[in-house]
Amino acid sequence: MGLRSGAKVLFPVLHIGRHGAQFRHQVSTEKEAITVMMTRRTALKSAALASAGLLISTSLTRALAQAAAPAGPYKLPDLGYGLDALEPFIDRQTMEIHHGKHHAAYVNNLNKALADYPDLQKLSAEQLVSSLDKVPEKIRTAVRNNAGGHANHSLFWKSLKKDADPLDSGPLQEALGELFGDKDTGQQMFFDKAMSVFGSGWVWLSVDKEKKLILESTPNQDSPLMSGRQPLFGLDVWEHAYYLKYQNRRADYVKAMFALVNWPFLNERFEKLTA
Ligand code: MN
Repeated sequence: MGLRSGAKVLFPVLHIGRHGAQFRHQVSTEKEAITVMMTRRTALKSAALASAGLLISTSLTRALAQAAAPAGPYKLPDLGYGLDALEPFIDRQTMEIHHGKHHAAYVNNLNKALADYPDLQKLSAEQLVSSLDKVPEKIRTAVRNNAGGHANHSLFWKSLKKDADPLDSGPLQEALGELFGDKDTGQQMFFDKAMSVFGSGWVWLSVDKEKKLILESTPNQDSPLMSGRQPLFGLDVWEHAYYLKYQNRRADYVKAMFALVNWPFLNERFEKLTA
């Protein structure tokens, strides 16, 4: 090394951490520098090996995932907003898991269930749950749960917005007035319905065959479409929708969600459903 024993040198050291590999400078004596250099050589070697291994295992994992779940035709829709856009009512981690894991799983499982049924694949998730009698018995439960989950969540993400414009007028406001009377009564009735869902399910504002607005709930991932009604707005009351932030306190979650209703979207949707 040509260094006087005990001389201080600035020596680059490779650190491999969560954010990848980087060199940091460290003051060392010659002896320490030699040790560090050897460590560095080993580290570089292991880093190269690790990244090669990582590449193999990533492509292997991807290949296995593709074999297990066909890539289509059903796709996880984009949220249309950031994972933290609904903070503080719904936290980023809940959104990450709810959309990226739970909703994604419904999509993957629907693709798997219909892998051997090209004709059924031509139907949307909404069409599938509207006509479960057309689905072979063998895959009916899987389609019910996963097409239901896919359809319900796809509508749910679009129905949420922070600081959305309030509903001051229009056909939906009139229909809500007819159904509930005033706004406070409406919130209380919706809240009570949400609290009355036993286990996992959804509470809905739906449009019935007479184009009237109704309040209802469904178990699991069942949709109002299964009873010939059109879902206008559904609130997910599965624990996976709120457990990380609210733990077991469904009441706090439901109350918080009143601040996230995307009224302009619902008003427009109501107009289409009742046209
Ligand atoms: Mn959910």
